[in-house]
Amino acid sequence: MNYPKVIKRYCPKCKKHTAQKVSIYKAGKRRASAIGERRHAEDKKGYGGQKFPKLAKPAKVTKKVTRMLTCPECKKKFNTYGIRIKKFELVAA
Ligand SMILES: [Zn+2]
Repeated sequence: MNYPKVIKRYCPKCKKHTAQKVSIYKAGKRRASAIGERRHAEDKKGYGGQKFPKLAKPAKVTKKVTRMLTCPECKKKFNTYGIRIKKFELVAA
């Protein structure tokens, strides 16, 4: 799917339509010292450490793509709902 790099959309902060920049949202790096990460590492340690069977065949063939829109006037970022798609490209339109 080809998607334009800039779309005109309503900004709830500016309360008007602005030409917003589109980018693809990427999850940030996981912190190794977070309690959940430490607990998971502790659970996986030693004999019989794998708690759940590893997925041999994933149920889904696509990944969700979340578009992030940035308003040029107030610099606020908006995430839109994710769409399942095999190929997502940003093109100049
Ligand atoms: Zn704005």
